[in-house]
Amino acid sequence: MAATVQQTQAVAAFRCTGDQCPDTCCKGWGMQLSAETVALYQTEAPELLDAVTSGEAEHIMRRDPQTDYCVKFDAGWCGIHKQYGDRMLGDACHFFPRITRRLGDITTQTATLSCPEIARLSLFADAPATPQHTTLERLPHSLTDYLPEGLAAADAWGLHQSALAATRDETASAERILMRLSAAARALETQPVAQWPGAFAFFLKIADTRLPPPQAKAEDPFNLINALQGLIGAAKKTARPRLMETLDCMTRALGVTLQWNDLTIQTAPDSLTRFLAIDTAWRTHYAAHYAPILKRWLEAQLSASLFPFCGLGNSLSERIAILAVRFATLKLALMCACHETGGALPEAETIRITQSLARFLDHLADPALSLAIYTETGWTLEARMRALVGDG
Ligand code: SF4
Repeated sequence: MAATVQQTQAVAAFRCTGDQCPDTCCKGWGMQLSAETVALYQTEAPELLDAVTSGEAEHIMRRDPQTDYCVKFDAGWCGIHKQYGDRMLGDACHFFPRITRRLGDITTQTATLSCPEIARLSLFADAPATPQHTTLERLPHSLTDYLPEGLAAADAWGLHQSALAATRDETASAERILMRLSAAARALETQPVAQWPGAFAFFLKIADTRLPPPQAKAEDPFNLINALQGLIGAAKKTARPRLMETLDCMTRALGVTLQWNDLTIQTAPDSLTRFLAIDTAWRTHYAAHYAPILKRWLEAQLSASLFPFCGLGNSLSERIAILAVRFATLKLALMCACHETGGALPEAETIRITQSLARFLDHLADPALSLAIYTETGWTLEARMRALVGDG
């Protein structure tokens, strides 16, 4: 049955690049199948049941143990799509990289930066997060409704759009916008949900006056890398060449060594000096160039997580803390890459770095380890977070 959805322009413009994709979604992931799709295979194409197994979920697409690709991956394209048509794809395969959700009677469709083409559109195309009404013939079999009790859908949608609009403020840095959103999110937590739509704009407006002075620690950049290393070490083992390229550039630039057996990091005597030089070069030469890109990243993350209504983390302050550390990680990766390149990066390289981090970090299903690390480092505290992202 056809359904009207609020779809972002990035999703509307998206076309899978298939055999041209540098990091296909068919590799390394357990693409889930709903019970409905498995039932469809049982009745119409039982030969496809060979491609179904269990793992990350009750029903997932089986992967080749040698290559870690979906067994139906065929020269860059989906073999099921090619032979049987789109109707036989499970929801995860049909919709990826799109994310479809309900907000009461509003259905929204945005997308994840873990797809290279969505990363390109989100960072560099016109108005990627602007919604437009679209009619879709298919929706996922299961759709979670993220509308909190006590809030009208239109008000919740308006609040979400206000958060996206805040990222487009040309008079503020991406770092300051992130901290404003953090302050507003923390303030919203103290209010009844019914008051959120009215209070959000006010909290954003007064955020600058309430931010605590930043509290930096010299070890922060190295702990950022170590935190990423810890999450990779705890995750399922699979080859992540694009992510490792990003991480290797960071370790080279800062002169640090990662020990993977015990997930520790070793700094060199000049690691801090290196970081300070990279930070100075960033502020002098690259920050202005990357300001709109980092704002676009922020907008895309808020859009993909229907901020403040869902996302990794159980509360608004947990979600904003996770977002802030990801922002700081991406920024450090871009800083190190600019340092190594000796100039602003080509668009494709900015996309690779952004997408490689998103592909790993955006698919962590459990916030517990991330939050434990970020709490231990102090990054969940506003003053520490402010220093970490580089606001002030
Ligand atoms: S990651 Fe995106 S562009 Fe690449 S194969 Fe998957 S949907 Fe297509």
